[in-house]
Amino acid sequence: MSRWLFLLIAAFVLLCMALPAVKLFGLGGGSFALYFLGLLVLLALIFRKQMLIFVLVGAVICYFWRPFSGSNQPQAGCRSATRTASALRGPYPSIDTLMQCDDVGRNALTLTGTDTAEYGFLIVRDRRQPTGGYYATPPVRSSQPANPSCSERPMVRPEDFWTSWSEAIDLAHAASNDYVWAATVHTHPQCPMASNSFTATDFNQAIGLKNLPPGSTLPVQLEKIVMINAHDGKVRTFEPRPDDQPFTPFGIEVSDRFLPYLNLGWDQYAQRVKIIATYPVRE
Ligand SMILES: [Zn+2]
Repeated sequence: MSRWLFLLIAAFVLLCMALPAVKLFGLGGGSFALYFLGLLVLLALIFRKQMLIFVLVGAVICYFWRPFSGSNQPQAGCRSATRTASALRGPYPSIDTLMQCDDVGRNALTLTGTDTAEYGFLIVRDRRQPTGGYYATPPVRSSQPANPSCSERPMVRPEDFWTSWSEAIDLAHAASNDYVWAATVHTHPQCPMASNSFTATDFNQAIGLKNLPPGSTLPVQLEKIVMINAHDGKVRTFEPRPDDQPFTPFGIEVSDRFLPYLNLGWDQYAQRVKIIATYPVRE
């Protein structure tokens, strides 16, 4: 078979599969079609074994080299850390400064340790202050049942953030109306993951909180989500925009479990992830 004929057939197959897949499943369907195209290419190359080896090695190198997990941000120095006896730690002028200078993030990472569960807390903003006024609530463990095998990764759920928030408000004797959710923070435990960045589920949670329907009872004015990764100790942030589109359940399944780098939607959001600090991790 001539090369051009093969390319033509491959393009035709890709179109035939990708168009309905994207229609049915969103961007996640497109990457699914790409997997099949890859399979087709590999099968064709089986007739040339040397080429097959090159392609396989190339694909593996690309997959492990490609992992872009966030752009490093310059870090401002911390003045003396804010000490507070209150359950609300702060105030800080920004979310990033809080994550860089307060101990709460490092505490959450220490709590996560070698556990397979996530820990999370909120960064709230005192809306009576015109600027700044960011505070952290205490870290809580995900309420989902633990499973040491990491097959069902326990995740911090909205109700866990709610627990952390309401406890902090009670303990600090604060008025709940004054403090809105500016950021959710969660750890990624040492479960094997394809990427050190956010999962599609994380991006979805951010987009969902950014676009809460009017009249929602959650006191949210979300600016970004923050994640502390127990693998590399890096603190990553993602700022959802009002026009960001959530993933379909199929897109989540593909990128959370298998190959996030091949999911166009995941890739698009991962390019916007920033690394704002690196905490020490114990090996
Ligand atoms: Zn996550």
